[in-house]
Amino acid sequence: MATLSDLANLIFPEVTETVADLEKRYPSRNLPEGAEVTRFAPSPTGFLHTGSLFTTLVAEKVAHQSKGVFFTRLEDTDTKREIEGSGKELLDQLAVFNVVPDEGYLGDHEEGKYGPYIQSHRADIYKVVIKDLLLRGRAYPCFCSQEDLQALRKTQEENKIIPGYYGEYAKCRKLSVDEAMVLIKEGKPYVIRFKSMGDHNNKVEVDDLVRGHLFLSENDQDIVIYKSDGLPTYHFAHLVDDHFMRTTIVSRGEEWLPSLPIHLELFASMSWKAPKYAHLPVIMKLDNGNKRKLSKRKDNEAAIAYFLQDGYPVEAIKEYLYTIANSNYEEWHIENPTLGLDDFTFSFDKMSLDGALFDLEKLRNISKEVIGKYTAKKMLEEMKKYTEKYDQNFYKLITSNEEYFEKIMDIEKDKPNPRKDYVTYSEVFDKIKFMYEPYYSELMESNPLPFNPNFDKELIKNILREFAATLNYDTDESTWFASLKALGAKYHFAENMKTLKKNRDLYIGQVGDVAEMIRIALTSSKQSPNIYYILRILGKEEINRRIEKAIALM
Ligand code: GLU
Repeated sequence: MATLSDLANLIFPEVTETVADLEKRYPSRNLPEGAEVTRFAPSPTGFLHTGSLFTTLVAEKVAHQSKGVFFTRLEDTDTKREIEGSGKELLDQLAVFNVVPDEGYLGDHEEGKYGPYIQSHRADIYKVVIKDLLLRGRAYPCFCSQEDLQALRKTQEENKIIPGYYGEYAKCRKLSVDEAMVLIKEGKPYVIRFKSMGDHNNKVEVDDLVRGHLFLSENDQDIVIYKSDGLPTYHFAHLVDDHFMRTTIVSRGEEWLPSLPIHLELFASMSWKAPKYAHLPVIMKLDNGNKRKLSKRKDNEAAIAYFLQDGYPVEAIKEYLYTIANSNYEEWHIENPTLGLDDFTFSFDKMSLDGALFDLEKLRNISKEVIGKYTAKKMLEEMKKYTEKYDQNFYKLITSNEEYFEKIMDIEKDKPNPRKDYVTYSEVFDKIKFMYEPYYSELMESNPLPFNPNFDKELIKNILREFAATLNYDTDESTWFASLKALGAKYHFAENMKTLKKNRDLYIGQVGDVAEMIRIALTSSKQSPNIYYILRILGKEEINRRIEKAIALM
């Protein structure tokens, strides 16, 4: 009678290493007490999902705030779903967010002592562990075809039985070693399944770092651990990798919570200590009043690239995700306005359990604050990076005279509370294009100028002419504004709204109306950044030219 060892050697004759050898090859990490080892383990199946960035930020934070290690691993065992090149792209996008792994798969190369970090390069390692399970009778070859499995599922559904390959329905579990070996020798295709000892009616207790103490039904499914293509499934690969890479916390999306009993049984079957698990809430969206998961197919905001393209600063996106991650983040941020994300201490128990609702308004507010705080120099750098990628025309305009652009970005920056003009980088062009030709002329000529019809055109022209003739902006803002009031007074404009309201018969308007005339002449619009600063940037000659142009167009 053949033994388990005969079976294991028939399946993996080339495997001579043992689990003990692997333990030696990948020794425990020499880290200080409390240091956590976390990872980002994407499958190369597409773009960086907003939810993945969220879990990754958390994983990186947890590792680094505890002086541990954050690494990346490419989970590419599902070759059918793989999208060529997306592994590297995922890593490139992480780099945009300044998430820098300490080791692992880095897009074009690997670094670290616990590799390889690409699952498809780890086939030899998985085989050692599977051979060990086979030797101990905790795994077996399964010869059931897709049709067999479909038929089984159908019978189970008809009889309202929990579907799956388990217990009495696990046909190949009952094969003797001899029978299995005959089939293998005949060349019948097979996979390898884990032999579960669990009972669905029993509960297993587990502490999830986010969800607390849980009682989950034990696993009783004989899941596939090794596919006919020679690669393992996610469940099994993560067992082996997180064990030998010495991961201490697996933080992943809550969609994996139902699989946790399988993972716990797999760890137990190897007598390995399971890592701590943190199942993070998925990001939801309100759709016609109903909460639902962000969908890769339906929602633009599921792809992090969408926010980058729209011109949200990386810092704002990260900060927004931190507000989802920890309920106390916002308060902390208000109390510590000068500190950055790196100074914040994240904790799993301050994470909400409900799926976090994606709140675009909140992201916009954060973004406005973040951009508002940037210096002109930083804006120049950020805008160059952004436009180079997403708006080549604007990029050329900016780089044709960087000093000029920087001056525009510097408007009001010397004030204690400068106006926050931009929510995203993509808004900048439309708001400041009037500072450039040919855009200024186009704006002036494309629509009637929005001068207040209550004022006679000749009056407006006279005011503009006199403004240009007496122009002096080489003073501080309040002196300049006083001179504007004096000009207004000559034409019966009150110095402010209050005075106008009290003396309607003395005045025809107030100084704001005069400022509006000038604003329209110089920018074509009733809204613009602070006009005093615009004057200083444009300079006398250009101001005169613009005033002439406005008068000619009236
Ligand atoms: N490759 C899995 C995924 O992309 C990783 C889950 C995990 O972090 O363990 O969902």
